[in-house]
Amino acid sequence: MKTDNATTVRTCPLCGAQYGGFPALSRKYPNTHICPDCGTREALESIGVSTAEQEKILGIIHGSNIHNSDR
Ligand SMILES: [Zn+2]
Repeated sequence: MKTDNATTVRTCPLCGAQYGGFPALSRKYPNTHICPDCGTREALESIGVSTAEQEKILGIIHGSNIHNSDR
């Protein structure tokens, strides 16, 4: 039984975020594993979504407003 992918924490080379679970494969950088958020950004960018819209959509995906601190 292999559960490594579920427990390994990886660092995304694009945004520096640490994430667990399965990495996304970058479309821009071959053989580069990136975090799911960057994978979403690249996918949205590829269909012509602006950076501001990408962040908005990611906020919706995460179900929270990113700019509201919860600390
Ligand atoms: Zn990232």
